Parts: sequence; C-alpha cells; structure tokens
Amino acid sequence: MARIFQPNEVDKSVLAGKTIAVIGYGNQGRAQGLNLRARGYRVIVGNRQDESYRKAQEDGFEVYSMDRAAALADVVMLLVPDEVAPAIFKDAILPNLAKGNALVMASGYNVTYRHIVAPEGVDVVMVAPRMIGQGVLELAQRGEGFPVLIGVHQDATGKALALALALADGIGGFLPHGVVVESSFEEETLVDLFTEHTWAGAFLYMLEKAYQVLVSEGVSPEVAILELYGSGEIGEIGRAMATHGLWRQLKLHSHTSQFGQLTHGAAFVGPEVEKLMRKAIEEIRNGEFDKRWTAEQAAGLPTFQQLLDSVLSSPLSKAEDQLYARLGRR
Ligand code: NDP
Repeated sequence: MARIFQPNEVDKSVLAGKTIAVIGYGNQGRAQGLNLRARGYRVIVGNRQDESYRKAQEDGFEVYSMDRAAALADVVMLLVPDEVAPAIFKDAILPNLAKGNALVMASGYNVTYRHIVAPEGVDVVMVAPRMIGQGVLELAQRGEGFPVLIGVHQDATGKALALALALADGIGGFLPHGVVVESSFEEETLVDLFTEHTWAGAFLYMLEKAYQVLVSEGVSPEVAILELYGSGEIGEIGRAMATHGLWRQLKLHSHTSQFGQLTHGAAFVGPEVEKLMRKAIEEIRNGEFDKRWTAEQAAGLPTFQQLLDSVLSSPLSKAEDQLYARLGRR
C-alpha cells in the first residue's frame, strides 16, 4: 500500500532560510511559486526574457535569467516542459548546483530515462501535482488541496523526503481535499505514459469512430458531436468519478442508462486490450518509447505533425469547426 502522508509529518524547518528558485514561469511555475510565497517561503524566478518574465515581475517576484536564479537558490524547481528540460538543465542548472542543493521536478520522465542526471551531493526529489497549474493556484487560493505524488531519487543530505513533503505542503497539497502520496520518479513516469499510451488515446479514437458510425447511420454531425463530447457531460461524469467512484457514479444516470452501460461496455474490452496494455508497459519499462520519442524530437517531429494534421482535418474536426463557430466557441 502506498504511504499517504499526514500534515503532522511536515517539517517546515527544512526550508527555513532557503531560497527556492522556480525555473520556468509557466503553468506549474507560476502556480507553485505563488502558492509557496503565500505560505511565507522565499521564492525567486528564473525565466528567459519574454512575456512570462514580465508576468513574474508583475506578480512581484525577483526575476533572473535561469542560470542566475539557479545560482542564487538552495532549492531549484525545474518547471519547464519535459522536452526542453534536459537542455536547460545542462546549460543553466547543472553548472550552478552546489553540494547540499536540491533539484525538484514535477514529473518523473527525464530522471527516469537519465536525460537529467544531477551531481552526487545534490538531493533530487519529485513533487508532482495531479492537477493542471491553474487548478493548483485556484484551489489553493480557495483553501483547497489536490493530489500530489512525491518521490526521492537521490538523498544526499538525508533530508530529501522531508524537503519533498515541505514543498508538497507549500504548494497546497495538504489543504482540505488534498492528498500527498509516496511514489517514485519511475512509478510516476509509468502511470503517466501508461495513461497516454492506452485508455486516454484510445478514448479519443473511440469517440472519432463512434462519430463516423453515427453519422453514417443518418445522425446529424451536430447531434453526434453534442452527444459524444460537445455538451461537456463527460467532464461532469469525470468529476462524479472522482467524487463518488468509478462505478458508484452510475447512480447519477437513469436506470436505462445504467443497464445499457453494464450490459454492453465489457464487450469492448476483450483480451486484445490487455495485451496492448502489457505491451505499452513493456515499451515504457525497456525504454523503447523514450528512444522513439527522443528520435522523433531530434528529427523535428515529422510523425507527430503528420498525425496531428490528419486528425485536425478529419470529417469530425471539420464538422466540429462549423458547429463550434455557430455556438460561438471558435
Ligand atoms: P509550460 O509549458 O507552462 O512551460 C513552463 C515554462 O517553460 C514557461 O515559463 C516557458 O517559458 C518555459 N519554456 C518553454 N520552452 C522553453 C525553452 N525552449 N527555453 C526556455 N524556456 C522555455 O510547462 P508546465 O508548467 O506545463 O510543465 C512544467 C513541468 O510540470 C513539466 O515537468 C510537466 O510535466 C509538469 N507538470 C505539468 C502539469 C500541467 O498540468 N501542465 C501537471 C503536473 C506536472 P516562456 O513562457 O518564456 O516560453
């Protein structure tokens, strides 16, 4: 069973007198930086000189180049997109990490696949909110928490776990409805990629297929899109799953709907699905997916672009453009 931490396990003194540098003032950087500062911690920001840099200044932070902020900090939170993090780490962070410093990541990917390797004397911890940046900020401002996975990759000071806990607390993870759970860089990478490579992607293609079938059977594109996702009902169902439970949320649907879902759903998840899931896990664990993704990025994203162009120009996307223009969504 995973360890679920309690607020009384937090020792804020590990951050006493420390300077925290948020590197990358984007979705997570802004939210986490503001939340940590609101709880009294000293936070500075490192960003390239652009709109985000100015935004951080407007928000009242001392803002520096990334390398300067890293040099001034004891705790470096690297909150840039995973694709650019290794280069930023190599150029701006690594030369400025001193013994006893900490490197903090919000996702496991780069450490798991050794695209980022910190020097021996540095703590390496993960503080990964299971929440988009806007949610991290707005929930904490309302006094509410969110799930946070924490993990320790390298414990140079003997206080790495305490540091991860204090940061998870500082960004709002222990506020009511929040939960801070022990995980690891490897586990976070596995579940994140597994979701993307299995049901999340399958869900999108399943909706596209359902659209094609409905329209070929005479349903109007407008009614099909509104039924499948355009109404936002799936967002409400997702919320109900989080609140009531995967199956317990069924009680919010009519009896006809519940009977239909329970009698028909399982047939779509045959043995082939489990085989594909196990294959996805194998490719994540043996590094095959990382190799493919790294090569794709080095080649300038040709397959990515081709697939994206293809789905964005599909009959569904065209009908969606027209419908959303009529609804004022585009
Ligand atoms: P963003 O896309 O919001 O980018 C964050 C920052 O990175 C921005 O300040 C941006 O600067 C900077 N940046 C982007 N590209 C470059 C570049 N080439 N050179 C220099 N700076 C660059 O990232 P997120 O906040 O979404 O993600 C940060 C981390 O948080 C990642 O590890 C991600 O996996 C993790 N995470 C994200 C979640 C989310 O919901 N978004 C949820 C949980 C974890 P500028 O604005 O100047 O371009």
